[in-house]
Amino acid sequence: MSERVLVGAGVGTGIAIGRAFKYASAKYVPWDSDKAGSARGLMAISAAIAQVEKDLGQSAKNADPEAASILEAMKLTLSDASLLAGIKERLADGANSQRAVSGAFAGAAKALASLGEYFAARATDIEELGNRVIQVLSGEGQVDFPTEPFILVADSVGPLEMSRLANSSIVGLITSTGSATSHTAILARAANLPTVVSVLGSEFIQPEDQVIVDSSSGQVLVNPDQAELKQYREAVTKSSQLDQLSTVGLPVDLYANLGSSSEAESALAFGAQGVGLFRTELLFLGEKQAPSLEKQILEYSRLLSAFPGKRVIVRVLDLDTDKPLPFLTLTESGKYANRGFQALLANIEVLETQLEALAESSRRYLETELWVMAPMITSSKHAKAFVDLAKSYGLKNVGVMIEVPEVCQQEVLDEILETVDFVSIGTNDLTQYTLNLDRVNSAIALSDVRKPEVLGLIERVVSSSREASKPVGICGEAAGDPESAKLFIEYGVTSLSLSPALLPSLVRALRN
Ligand code: PEP
Ligand code: MG
Repeated sequence: MSERVLVGAGVGTGIAIGRAFKYASAKYVPWDSDKAGSARGLMAISAAIAQVEKDLGQSAKNADPEAASILEAMKLTLSDASLLAGIKERLADGANSQRAVSGAFAGAAKALASLGEYFAARATDIEELGNRVIQVLSGEGQVDFPTEPFILVADSVGPLEMSRLANSSIVGLITSTGSATSHTAILARAANLPTVVSVLGSEFIQPEDQVIVDSSSGQVLVNPDQAELKQYREAVTKSSQLDQLSTVGLPVDLYANLGSSSEAESALAFGAQGVGLFRTELLFLGEKQAPSLEKQILEYSRLLSAFPGKRVIVRVLDLDTDKPLPFLTLTESGKYANRGFQALLANIEVLETQLEALAESSRRYLETELWVMAPMITSSKHAKAFVDLAKSYGLKNVGVMIEVPEVCQQEVLDEILETVDFVSIGTNDLTQYTLNLDRVNSAIALSDVRKPEVLGLIERVVSSSREASKPVGICGEAAGDPESAKLFIEYGVTSLSLSPALLPSLVRALRN
């Protein structure tokens, strides 16, 4: 498996594979040569603004209509009188040119952001404009992008930079900020550029690392192993044959692993019969407070509305040790502490809000069959506690993930199967915990799931679930690996859930 799998919101279509190019936009840096605010400062600023306006007009001319309208709107922002007034005021107070520009643009962006989420996305465009004006003012040249195909890794990329990138050798984009509705995302989608925004942990990506950007599942695979590379390369080269493929008549249901509702449309285009794993971490990561009930209802409703008549399995929050959340209390130490259900038990109000939001969204979208599951269940007692709690909110189909060897012991498994409506096997964690490997720091190969110790557990879970007449799916990365998937089907799994972009090649392999 890859060195790391990072998650974000997928935007655009498909997959990109390439070397990382890390990019930092121009930012305010103290500038000694321009000490006090002055008339000369104002002239230089006006000239820099005029230059950026000219560049914007030029870029708009060469852009497609969607990008052009965004660039034109940015041009209008630059001519806003209140912006210039803000700059003059700061200069009069003795600020130097850069400080005056960055202060005035930041002030305008803040005012816009305070108007709500929709405007917040636009506020980042203003910040980009300010940064660009500063870049011109300080005489800094623009960064040269590599001539070889590359994947850009940045905190944010504004519309201006996006228009420059359109003429470069960029093949994929990763940003640590932004949302699926930001201008960057809109432009990336229009340019068919595989993109994942709001990626937490993008700082772990080093220049020249090999990266897979899977916009269909919102995942970024850093330094993948050979098997994953082969799998994804095949998906890249053959994805155009999507339409001719059908999942009809296959012995299992094929579902999508998603990290954001923004990926729903492309999952359907790739032929997903539903969602087998909706990871909800993205709603929580990088936040200072737990997301509100309303914010969660909005996201789950978006997701459910995209799959009428289909099944959607949502997993409640699975905290990971390398992604601490400031608003969560940590649990006691222990092998599986601070992950999955144990972490939620220590922060029960977070789980309760999540379940309430899911139940409410389900009532709004009754045509979609919502199933809910808990990650990293370590005992039958915890499985029962989760099922009881979720059902008390009116959720009808409640299950658990099987990800640790302790719950694969026959007795524990039987007890779990008595209480749950379904189980889903998370092979990523089950492999690491069974083989005593560490997913982040030691190399786990995609094929390690086929080691007898792991396969034995999977076979037992599948056959026990079948005997208990409970649906049993697989939602780890191995589900997308044809060799492993065929074995799982032989054992009797009822569904496989994988990155949507890998669905066509799996269907092809299963038909052979
Ligand atoms: C797994 O462990 O296989 C799984 C699907 O969960 P995650 O990768 O999110 O830990
Ligand atoms: Mg897991």
